[in-house]
Amino acid sequence: MPEYTGPIPVPSPETRPFWEAARRHELSLPKCRACGALHYYPRGACPKCLSGDLVWERVSGKGSLHTFTIVHRGQKGFPVPTPYVLAVVELAEGPRMMSTLVDVDPATVRIGMAVEVVFRDVSDAIALPLFKPVAK
Ligand SMILES: [Zn+2]
Repeated sequence: MPEYTGPIPVPSPETRPFWEAARRHELSLPKCRACGALHYYPRGACPKCLSGDLVWERVSGKGSLHTFTIVHRGQKGFPVPTPYVLAVVELAEGPRMMSTLVDVDPATVRIGMAVEVVFRDVSDAIALPLFKPVAK
């Protein structure tokens, strides 16, 4: 795998458990104890009912491609090789995550395709959750 050249996320108090789980190659999301909803991105209050009573729950990492675009031209401040597939994945548990689709020929990418999380270690502390097509 080529050396990672993109930005490295800096955990905040709200996102630290997400990144700690990712470091273990687990996908974990905040869950509201008041209404039961999972959400992404991590934040201090439930986006459905505004409760701050949250716990972290490991999720399957499986989902489907909700939408995508193929990025052909790099952006300043995000120096990663192009083309790459910028994806919004709808997790099996409901929340949608923006990520990157890897291990795929961009010409074969289709909305609705089954995907699963993979983790890429980019520093001693950070592993990025990316997605790849589920092998048939
Ligand atoms: Zn809630």
